[in-house]
Amino acid sequence: MLREFETKKEKIFLIRNLIEVRIPKRFYEKLASKYSKEYIISFAEPKKVLHSVTKRELVFITKESGIPLLGHAAFGLIDRGTNLIQVRPITGCNLNCIFCSVDEGRKSKTRVTDYIVDPDYLVEELKKVVEFKGKGVEVHIDGQGEPTLYPYMEMLLDKISKIKEVEVVSMQTNGVLLNEKKIEMLENYATRINLSLSTLNEKKAEILHDAKYPLKKVLENAKMIAESKMDLLIAPVWVVGYNDDEIKKLIEFALEIGAGKKYPPLGIQKYIPYKTGRKLKKVMTFREFYKRLEELEKEYGVKLILKPEDFGMEKRDRIPSPIKRGERFKAKIVANGRMRGERLCIVKNRVVTVLTNKKVGDYVKFEIVRTHDGIFLGKEI
Ligand code: SF4
Repeated sequence: MLREFETKKEKIFLIRNLIEVRIPKRFYEKLASKYSKEYIISFAEPKKVLHSVTKRELVFITKESGIPLLGHAAFGLIDRGTNLIQVRPITGCNLNCIFCSVDEGRKSKTRVTDYIVDPDYLVEELKKVVEFKGKGVEVHIDGQGEPTLYPYMEMLLDKISKIKEVEVVSMQTNGVLLNEKKIEMLENYATRINLSLSTLNEKKAEILHDAKYPLKKVLENAKMIAESKMDLLIAPVWVVGYNDDEIKKLIEFALEIGAGKKYPPLGIQKYIPYKTGRKLKKVMTFREFYKRLEELEKEYGVKLILKPEDFGMEKRDRIPSPIKRGERFKAKIVANGRMRGERLCIVKNRVVTVLTNKKVGDYVKFEIVRTHDGIFLGKEI
């Protein structure tokens, strides 16, 4: 669980292969004869806790931190007014896809902070949301990043499986970190795996993901999932000019390995240039996209234009929002925000991203400028 390295000036500890703690050597050496490593790590100051993949600051969201799990798009819980609840346990990604809508991975130019949520806290809060929603809930584990990086995944899934109102557990993954053992573990809890797979060509894969990409392994993982009790949905992103020739091959691959038992086998999305995501020059229009999907549907006799109903999704009341647009607050900054110039504050049991350059611990006055889907943005006034 605890591995150690060192540089000239720092002693580095890697906890569960994910959390990196850097301690100045002079500090460590002073205490090494007196205390155990775990103890030194737990009270070392100054220390930097980093995400071991992205090397960004990693904020541990626990019940004790007081940071609510509703209100942020990058971690916690998201309720978009249906029977599906998005559960986001961790940020950070092992790939750097050129089409990434959240500019994730080590090469990110915009994301400066990562978050990891304590599984007990996550489930405790999830239970409250599920109780509000009632029976027939789908818990969808996804995130601004790769969920399989979460070191407590089995614990999280086990706890979720004990919530009686949860009927479906699905998870989004790029599949790179999966293996036979992990797939067997997932099979005990998950109903469906949505696997991002955008090409069957090794060279194209490295270009699309801007990282070393073990295509053979991902394809083997796809087959293992399809052969398991779980459903497999292959979810390519169609990036014009990059993988146009690959879409047919991906459809054939998905059908050949038996993806989609109860659910559709493919969930093809088109690249969309989001404001804070990665930008590419060529973009397909929605009209063109649906026209091409329609043609492919006819050619392969498979449903490619999907609706929420295909996944058993239905509208449900939203958890009432205690915060309204235009409201003004003064609150203490409790953590750094996901991007530069963003900080986190707590208001009425919700976490609010506030645009400010003040520091953690300072108080800031702000106005709520956005409240979409229970995700709150405030601007310093
Ligand atoms: S795998 Fe997903 S989160 Fe990671 S970089 Fe690619 S698109 Fe972004």
